[in-house]
Parts: sequence; C-alpha cells; structure tokens
Amino acid sequence: MAESRTVQHQRSLDDPDGFWLEQAKALDWITPPTKAGDWSFDEAEFHVRWFEDGVLNVSANCLDRHLPEHANRTAIIWEPDDARVEPQHFTYAEVHAEVCHFANVLKAQGVKKGDRVTVYMPMIPEAAFALLACARIGAIHSVVFGGFSADSLAGRMEDCGSAVVITADEGRRGGKTVPLKTTVDEAAKIFGGVKTVLVVKCTGKDVPMTRGRDVWYHEAASKVPADCPPEPMKAEDPLFILYTSGSTGKPKGVVHTTGGYLLWATLTFRTTFDYKAPEVFWCTADVGWVTGHSYLVYGPLANAATTLVFEGVPNWPTAARIWEVVNRHQVATLYTAPTALRSLMKEGDDIVKATSRKSLRLLGTVGEPINPEAWRWYHDVVGDGRCPIVDTWWQTETGGHMITPFPDTPTKPGSATLPFYGVEPKLLDGEGKELHGEAEGNLIIARAWPGMMRGVWGDEKRFFETYFRTFPGVYTTGDGARRDADGYWWITGRVDDVINVSGHRMGTAEVESALVLHDDVAEAAVVGFPHDVKGQGIYAYVTLNSGVEASEDLLKALKAHVRHEIGPIATPDAIQFAPGLPKTRSGKIMRRILRKIAEGEIGALGDTSTLADPSVVDDLVRNRVG
Ligand code: ATP
Ligand code: MG
Repeated sequence: MAESRTVQHQRSLDDPDGFWLEQAKALDWITPPTKAGDWSFDEAEFHVRWFEDGVLNVSANCLDRHLPEHANRTAIIWEPDDARVEPQHFTYAEVHAEVCHFANVLKAQGVKKGDRVTVYMPMIPEAAFALLACARIGAIHSVVFGGFSADSLAGRMEDCGSAVVITADEGRRGGKTVPLKTTVDEAAKIFGGVKTVLVVKCTGKDVPMTRGRDVWYHEAASKVPADCPPEPMKAEDPLFILYTSGSTGKPKGVVHTTGGYLLWATLTFRTTFDYKAPEVFWCTADVGWVTGHSYLVYGPLANAATTLVFEGVPNWPTAARIWEVVNRHQVATLYTAPTALRSLMKEGDDIVKATSRKSLRLLGTVGEPINPEAWRWYHDVVGDGRCPIVDTWWQTETGGHMITPFPDTPTKPGSATLPFYGVEPKLLDGEGKELHGEAEGNLIIARAWPGMMRGVWGDEKRFFETYFRTFPGVYTTGDGARRDADGYWWITGRVDDVINVSGHRMGTAEVESALVLHDDVAEAAVVGFPHDVKGQGIYAYVTLNSGVEASEDLLKALKAHVRHEIGPIATPDAIQFAPGLPKTRSGKIMRRILRKIAEGEIGALGDTSTLADPSVVDDLVRNRVG
C-alpha cells in the first residue's frame, strides 16, 4: 500500500485532469464537471477554478444521497457537556428532516442564495444542522467560535456584511454556561447591520428578545413546511467564509467554494482515516475551526460516516472524560490537537490506563507540530502501542489535509510524512531558490489543489499579496519544513518562528520539544530576542507540571537539559516560568506576543482579541526576565 500510495500520488501529478475528474465521481453531481483544474499563480493572469462547469449541492451530498441505503444509520451522536444527561443519536433520515426544516426557517427569514449567515453556536447538533441548512439553500456560512467576544463577533459580521446570525440562548462548556445571546445583543450594538437573530433553545435560560429582530428557532420551525429541495450550486459558488485563528496577525476571511472543497474534505476524510462504516469517528475540534468544518461535519457526512459532536471539554469534570467518551460511544478514530494531548499528559498515565479504550483503531493529530514526546505518549499510552497515528498538516486555507500519513504509512514521531494526492510541496531558501534532497526551508505548494481557498472575503488583493507575493508562481504556506533522506516531511513551525543564533538557524519547535521532554515540564514556548553578541538569543517560557515548584536549581537543570538534548548553541539565554501561555481559542500558542514581551516591547502587543485568556499576558509582562 505504501507503494501504491506513491504510484497514485505520481499519477495525480502527471495526469491531474484525468486523476481529478475520476476522483470527482466521489460526489453526486447534478451536472458532472467536464473540466478539472483551471488555474494560474502568475500575477498577470492569477485565477483558481476547479470543476467549473459542474453543478451540485453540498447538503444533498451529505444527506439525501445516503437515504436510499443508510437512512437508519446514525449520522450524528451528541455527547452532552454533563455526562449525566442522555446522549442523542440522529439517523441520516432525522438529520435530513432537521436540515430541511432549518433551511425553510432561513428562507422564511428572507435568507437567499449568496447571503452571508453568521453561526455563533455551542457544540449542539443544531450547529451542524445550521451549516447544512445554509449549504442547502446556497447561503454562505461564516462560523464564529462561540467563545469569541462581542467585538470579535461584530467585526467578523461587519467584515462579510452578514445581517443574520444563528445563535443559542446559552451554551455549556466544562460545567459553565456561555451567554451567547447576550453577546450577540452586545455585538448588534457595535455592528448596526444585524437584522435577524435566530435563537435556538439550548439551556432554556430566559433571555430578552428584541421584537422584529430576534426569533426563536423552535417557534419559526413549527410554521414552515418539511420539504426543502436542495439549491443547485455551481462548483465555484462560495460555500463558506472562515476567519483564521489569528496566530500571526489580523484574522483573514478565508473563502472556500462548493465543489473543490467538498471533494477535498470527502477524499481526505476517506483516505487519511480509512473510514469504515459503521465506526464512530470523533473529531474534538469546535465547529468554529476549519477542522470542525472539514472533519466534524462535511468530510464525515459526505462519506455516510457516524460523527460524534461533543459539547464539553476533554478534561472536565476530570482528565478521564475524554477516555470515558471514547468508551461510552466506542470511538474508533480520535482526532485531536497536541495542545489537548499535552494538557492530558500532564495529569499522568494512571488516569488513562484506568480506562479500556479498546474500541480505538486510529489516532489523529492536527493544529501544531506535535512534540515527539507527546507523539510517543499518544501512541504508547493512549493507543496501547496498537493504533497508528496520522499527524495531519494543513491550514484553514488548504481546506483539508495536505501532508499526512495514511493508516498504513510507516511513521516517524513528529513527521507528517508524505503529501496527499495532487499536493506538490517544495522547499525554497530565503531567496526563492529550490532546495533538493535532504534540506530545510520555506514550505511552498507548487500547484493548485481542489480544496484550496479561493480568496480573502472583501479583499481581492490580500489573497495574492499574502500567499503569492513572497515567492512568485507558488503558494506560500508561511510554515517551515525539513525533508529527510527518506523524503519524509517534518513541519518545523511558522517561518516567523525560526531563530538565528550565532549564525545557526533553529526552529523554535525543536527547543520546545527538548524542554517538554524534561519530567517537570508540561509545556514550553520559545522565541528569539535581539542579542548583542549572538544576533538572536533564546527566550523560553516554561509551564511546569502540576505540583512542581519553580526554583533556581530547576532553571539551571533545564538549561543543562537543553544543552544535553540539542547542543550548547540551543541553551536558552532566559527562562521564564509561566503558569499560563497566551493561546488562541483553538489552543495555539501566540508566539508573536511572546516575542514582543521577550523583546521588551510591551507597549506594542498588537491584536490580542483572539486570545483565550488575555489575563495571562499581564502575568507574563510582570514576571519578564531580563
Ligand atoms: P493565522 O493564519 O491567522 O495566523 P493559524 O495559522 O493559527 O492563524 P490555522 O489555519 O488554524 O490558523 O492553522 C494552520 C497552521 O497550524 C499551519 O500553518 C501550521 O503552522 C499549524 N499546523 C497545523 N497542523 C499541523 C501539523 N500537523 N504539524 C505542524 N503544524 C501544524
Ligand atoms: Mg495561518
């Protein structure tokens, strides 16, 4: 199979039209496409189109086409925040009925094809119904993570001119309630263009409703017909807008289209996870992130899979919750992020070992480079050494997996292994010269693929300028990578995070992995800062394991440990013990802010609106070393 993967990959590059028109048969087209990719990355004739003459509907592909054979198969399992509340199961027939109703409610509110609909929802089944309902009538959804502030919500609604928002009275997460409707009310004061607020009853909290603007979903749903035919959409019609997580700057409204995106989500889900019905697939990402779009909703449902939607958080009420959910629903594939793994790892192995987990077949990770230490723990402890790990590298912009193992690809801890079909990664040096063989440099993608973004909403120039200006003719990922002697790819982190110490280039991820290897360290973030002698010095922020005290001795031990693991050149110049690190809502460390603190530029921290907990920044500034 490893060989047939290589052969298939080569064919996808040698005969892209033949390959992709054949793969496109994985979807149910109203009018099948006769053309595959039509694109140019050159500035003068820049364009990207896939399956241009094809016509289809995404919700029909995710639901209607499965009804003849799988109407009674479970499409969605819902696991509530509070484990004492009964989980819910929805069959494909039930989800279909819910989505048709939801779509008719949107229509009754005047939503039309091409309108932008904001989705600001907790992790309840209605979140998935809302997405599919938009897709059914050709409205463009823009999901905003339910943890974002009124400012962030208003900014995103204004950016894409969205007059309609779907929300809930309140959400629940980790035993707390989240006042969604109240936040929408505040957002509507900031952005005056909010015309309709559709409110799903979730906790039953009595929330104020504004006449003429706010509508209870259940009341509206009782007045609409059950039947809603899917709207025929051109392959290149936008399906959704999604704002990136903002790790590196102001979030961009990434636009994905109907045909190419759905094919990419469908094919990567099927191939990377080797999904076999009726297994249960669990992606722990919130629907507010691209991972939630592609691998919680669209990829699984397009494949008639059973997808688990979890309302809560993996470590509430205890660190065993995630494993209890695995057992309760007999989860076969678990797809989660390194940040979640590190926080679970910190609590020790006994909690994991006390649970069976024997339904697990495959483990997946996404979101950040996974430290080899966390990889081994995932493999040896969580998977009992029995389950392969797929370390999937991709971005909001790419729509789905780009470099990833398949379950039978031989893996190396920390490597995302090989490119997916149709993906042609290359390494360039700083001047744009291609590097061959074993090398490290800027990761670029040399050709278009069906699932790639088609633009930045409302800012045509920003798309080209952000991704195609630095290195002409190719898509610049912004990530660095290394290719080893076997042709395996290792993502080294964002290019901005590469530091140069006394002429030695080093990925910060490498130093972080060395620190995390130490028994007392739970998490580490490393940045460079200007250094008179070395050019750049190394500044490390370290979070210790539960119960470990910070001390001068430990500080020395950590420096010695890194020296021993990597070499004297990597010895941190400064180590700051930090109870918390600034993370985006999707759990990624915002090194941009840490860099500013290390540099002493605390007046210019930039946009911090996507931080999960802005208060950690104050602590970091107060306890700055130097
Ligand atoms: P912004 O673009 O606004 O700065 P972001 O890049 O964090 O936000 P995403 O699109 O969610 O937003 O994240 C994609 C990035 O996550 C990749 O560019 C890469 O840096 C990192 N990443 C994702 N998966 C992996 C992985 N398996 N290995 C290494 N890095 C990964
Ligand atoms: Mg990015």
